[in-house]
Amino acid sequence: MKLHSILSLLFIAFCTFNYQPPSTQEQPKLIIGIVVDQMRYDYLYKYWDDYGDKGFKRLLQEGYVLHDGHYQYAPTFTGPGHASIYTGTSPNVHGIIANDWYDPIAKEYVNCAGDNDANTVGSESYNGKMSPHRLLSTTLVDQLELATNHRAKTIGISIKDRGAILPAGHHPDGAYWYDKTNGRFITSDYYCEKLPDWVSEFNERRLVDEYMAQTWNTLLPLDRYDESLPDDKPFERPFINTADNTFPYDLEKISTLVRFGIKNTPYNLLPATPFGNTLLKEFAKTVIDAEDMGSDQIPDFLTMSFSSTDYAGHQFGNFSVEVQDVYLRLDKDLGEFFDYLDQKIGLKNILIFLSADHGATDVAGLVSPPGGYFRANGFETALKHQLKELTGKDVIENISNQQIYLVKNDNIDYNQVIEFIKSFTIKFPGAKEAIELNDFSKCIEDQRICDLIRNGIMPGRSGDLYVQLQPGWVSESYLKGGTTHGSTYPQDTHVPILFYGWHVKHGDNYHRNYIRDIAPTVSAILKISRPSGATGLVIEDLFNN
Ligand SMILES: [Zn+2]
Repeated sequence: MKLHSILSLLFIAFCTFNYQPPSTQEQPKLIIGIVVDQMRYDYLYKYWDDYGDKGFKRLLQEGYVLHDGHYQYAPTFTGPGHASIYTGTSPNVHGIIANDWYDPIAKEYVNCAGDNDANTVGSESYNGKMSPHRLLSTTLVDQLELATNHRAKTIGISIKDRGAILPAGHHPDGAYWYDKTNGRFITSDYYCEKLPDWVSEFNERRLVDEYMAQTWNTLLPLDRYDESLPDDKPFERPFINTADNTFPYDLEKISTLVRFGIKNTPYNLLPATPFGNTLLKEFAKTVIDAEDMGSDQIPDFLTMSFSSTDYAGHQFGNFSVEVQDVYLRLDKDLGEFFDYLDQKIGLKNILIFLSADHGATDVAGLVSPPGGYFRANGFETALKHQLKELTGKDVIENISNQQIYLVKNDNIDYNQVIEFIKSFTIKFPGAKEAIELNDFSKCIEDQRICDLIRNGIMPGRSGDLYVQLQPGWVSESYLKGGTTHGSTYPQDTHVPILFYGWHVKHGDNYHRNYIRDIAPTVSAILKISRPSGATGLVIEDLFNN
């Protein structure tokens, strides 16, 4: 054997002996991303006195807290929120501009996670015709899959389909969401052909039947809920087919009511009770056990989105005892979940981040004036009618998500139409102005608001004008109770951003940080590539001593 051959053999042997695959570099065993749907930043502190020590307080007292974390776009909805947290960018890049939107090219409404080519797995319903195909960027989860050559176990779970699908991205090991028709977790054939046995076994436990056979009473004595208004306010919308909006709620009885042909079931009522969150917590434990997550040196990723906070917020409104109770019980569920993780994997081996997909506007009927209910139907009818009188044509193709889509036709004088829409909008109660979405040089709002709207749109998916409302105004559909979100204002954009666990120091800051910064920061902690469309920046304070 020639000398250089011997040397190369020795070199190979030496390199093999010393070779450290990238997966053995120091990394957490498990990453858990938690989204609390509709959680405003101030809820961390509003309910502080009634939280236990092991849930939110554990993250706040031992982890890193960003006190001024905001969405960097509008509209602030669930689909765009989840997509932005995990892609590190805004709807103008990842393409999820709303939960549902009018597609001006296909001329039909589409859902952010809907997919006509996909089929439900695990149920006879259509609720599994879903996939992430409208998400135009990879997510953090995708990048972990790529960084580990798909050896990482990655799963997204939520009560809402979009809360599971968008975070998990394009190539996870699984995504599971709740089917309101039968109370089971399901998936689509985008992910797999058959529900894993452990998901079927979890469904067979019928926890949902157990939860919905009880009476929902307050976790603490009612007089402890002094952060909320008394429990009989007209802004709290009762459960469907009922008239009472006060505790206790006999869920078993409410679940069987029928009125005007509309039948309640325990399965469609669960999401607006705190037990939707409890079900998700139990499912998360099953996912980790069944998939052996966090059991080796290759990091795994679980994304979980708690949806009941949003359902309860829409139904009962903030300031209600019901919403407070949902948060107190979520805090308890989180505490139990963190204890389970500590026992099984060790919290120091797990990187956790927690945020929300949007906040919520104060109940309009409670605080107005200022604020109120925007008559969207009246706005649309009157605007269409007056434009037809002016031009002799139907020039509006669609109005949705506060956006106006104009008919594209050579015979339309667009300058005339746009000027009319602007002057009409300014005069309409609750509307502030109509902003042209293809020319932001004409946006006369505060620059920050113009930027939020610009970041929230995408040509080919968005309309031609955005109807900006005055602060505190929400859709007229909340006249019947509850509240909503979606605006450019801080009650909707300001959300918690918390980091905890693996190599996260204790601390906080009051700098303005954006949701799109979460994914680049987690990428930096893991030393993996950022999602393909990421535009956010690393939150440097987390790394500085
Ligand atoms: Zn919502």
